[in-house]
Amino acid sequence: MGGEHDSPMGAEHGSDSPAERPIGIGDAPPNLIRLLKERRRRRLRELATDESWPRILAHRFTQFRRLDAADQAELFAHTRVLLDEKGFEGCGGFEMTDEARVLIAATASLLLLHRHTDYYPALRSILVYPDAYVVPVQFEAGGGMVVEEQVDHIGESWTTGSLILSWNDVLIGAAGRDRGCNVVLHEFSHQIDAETGETDGMPPIEDPELRERWKQVFEREYERLCELTSRRRRTFIDEYGASHPSEFFAVATEHFFMEPVVFAKRQPELYRVLAAFWQQDPAKWGIRMD
Ligand SMILES: [Zn+2]
Repeated sequence: MGGEHDSPMGAEHGSDSPAERPIGIGDAPPNLIRLLKERRRRRLRELATDESWPRILAHRFTQFRRLDAADQAELFAHTRVLLDEKGFEGCGGFEMTDEARVLIAATASLLLLHRHTDYYPALRSILVYPDAYVVPVQFEAGGGMVVEEQVDHIGESWTTGSLILSWNDVLIGAAGRDRGCNVVLHEFSHQIDAETGETDGMPPIEDPELRERWKQVFEREYERLCELTSRRRRTFIDEYGASHPSEFFAVATEHFFMEPVVFAKRQPELYRVLAAFWQQDPAKWGIRMD
């Protein structure tokens, strides 16, 4: 999967630099804040789409071309809200562009289609590096020794309000050039996972029946992936998913949207549970017109 992803459990982070909240509503009561926010979102969703967006997405994002017109319109509406509410910042020499903002926000919006959403409520800033970036990681080396190694990261999601992405890997994922991996879908699904208060691979599911089915299927499929990975067997779901249940959810979500037809054939039960949660059936999307 070309580099480590992240430490989604992290609550502290040195480079976390939250942007100011975009709505200047000061100390208004919570109900009024919610009302004003909802009104602003409704207006944003109703605005016309910038004419450059379909071109950018048709060019960069392989799955965008497979969405029907209604889903594309909903995707644009959510994209407008995300662009309004979240800060986008270039890091490590990356100059932020409209193309980067639109591609990232639209990919993140794919996870919001057909669902009731509060637009990644904990997230304030998306920090973008030009390519994989190096993070010092400490490892237990046995005998109480701790060693520090420099590890390449392509993305991170933090519960403290920021999400980090490598632009080069955003492009590779959007173009479908890395075996169904997509770092934007990965990191934003961690944000949704964390909405329950715990990043544990169990996103917020209101329907008790689906929650029960999710637990059973996810636990079984996660253990199966761990077992196959430990025996160095080839697996459809990327082996990085075996590192933690939260990674399993994030990686399975990437494959679900990026390789849906194969996924539905290879792991139909897991596919169906994900389809019920995401309220989408991407295996039935239209055929891509390349
Ligand atoms: Zn991850």
